[in-house]
Formats: sequence, C-alpha cells, structure tokens
Amino acid sequence: MVSCRISPGARAFFTSRAGGVSRPPCGGPGGSGGLNLALHVGDDPADVVANRARLERTLGPGLVWMDQVHGNTVRVAVDPAAAEAVGECDALVIGPQVTGRAPAVLVADCAPVLLADESGSVLAAVHVGRAGLFAGVLPAALRRVRELTAEPVHAAVGPHICGRCYEVGAELSERARAFGAASTTTHGTPAIDLLAGIRGQLEGVPLTVIDACTVEDERWFSYRRDGVTGRFAGLAVRNGDTPPAIRRWADALG
Ligand SMILES: [Zn+2]
Repeated sequence: MVSCRISPGARAFFTSRAGGVSRPPCGGPGGSGGLNLALHVGDDPADVVANRARLERTLGPGLVWMDQVHGNTVRVAVDPAAAEAVGECDALVIGPQVTGRAPAVLVADCAPVLLADESGSVLAAVHVGRAGLFAGVLPAALRRVRELTAEPVHAAVGPHICGRCYEVGAELSERARAFGAASTTTHGTPAIDLLAGIRGQLEGVPLTVIDACTVEDERWFSYRRDGVTGRFAGLAVRNGDTPPAIRRWADALG
C-alpha cells in the first residue's frame, strides 16, 4: 500500500497486489497471496470478501464500493447509513453527514482519482480510464463535490498506465488530443496520457501524483500486462477515521 495527502483533512491510500489471500491469476508478487478487491474478475468471492475485510480492519472506516461501468454516472451518498455498495457508477461522493465511511475505486491500469475538500468532510473516488476521460466523469464528480462544500477542493491520483505504455489506435489517440491527452509510446506509436487529461479536467485543482505505471511496475495489478488479473483500490479517508498506527505510517510518507 502507498499513501499521500489529498488535502489537509484527508489522505489517499492505494493498495498493491500484496497482502491478501487471492490465488493466481489474482495473486501477489512472487507467488504470495494477492489483495484482489474486485468481485467481477473471476476470483473466489470468499477470497475477495476476506481481502476487503482485511483492508477495512487496517484502514478504519467502512469502505463503499461501486459497480464500475466506464461511464460518467456520479452517485452522492448523503445518508449517514450509506450502504457498503452503491450500484452502477464511476464516481462516488460522500457527504459530511456520512461518517466512518470511505469511497473506494477499483482499477488495474485506469487512474484512481480521489477528491477531498480542505477539511476532508467531503470525499470522492473517481474511476478515470479512457472512456471516463472522454465522458467527463471527473468534471462531473468535481461539480457534485463543490455542491456539498464551499472549501477549496484537492485531488490525488494513484498508480495507472502511463502515457508511454497506453498504446491505442490512431483514431483514439487523436480523440484524446481534444483533452490534451494524446501521446506516443516509447516505440513511437499513438497513445493516451491519462494523467495529462486528468490535469486538464481538474482545471487547476491541486493534484498530488503517485508516480508509478501499473504496466511497468509489478507491484500493481495491470490488465494490459496480465490480461485476467485482480484490481487494486484507491481510497479517500478522513484523517480522523485513520487508526493511529496507520496515521503515523502514512504521515512519515509526507
Ligand atoms: Zn508505463
């Protein structure tokens, strides 16, 4: 797991492949148990449930999961009894009334983007792949966050496929140009740079970046690299919900 600050009041946590009980093709590095957190990738559901429970015990708050469909639907949880799952959407916003909960986004190459206001009272998790970039899920989520808070909003993005690895057809790369996200691979073919697109869509919102490419760095699940594989999570957690030991570990990271 890695972590960084989203805003003064909230941290982002990004799980890795390591530290769970999943077996190949959702396993961890070097034959260890994998921390696959997705139910839709063919992994044993009992293993996924055990992995999710292990993560919740470590992090503190109850985790709220989305059924991601590469769209631009934003769901907003304002009911204090927000359920563990919110159905089909690609962005989840948690309002200040919902305590002890953290929104979660699942990825394996797509970008996990977390949003939080200054105090960390409003949180969001957003799934930004190529489809989400084109569909505007991130600006849609940002608008909903701003409806719930008057404070400045901050963002963090976790490990995702980089602009030198995300090879696509020329047509898609050209389409990405409108979002400032056209790039080329290391061997000169058309590609998409998700991070560049995300920066553009955040329109100046301060962004903390975990600089890691899922394809190149085997600590994370990568669909491009491995095909059938697990998913890791990006989580937005209020500082007050983080257990002291985790808080000390995370604060040492900066
Ligand atoms: Zn890369």
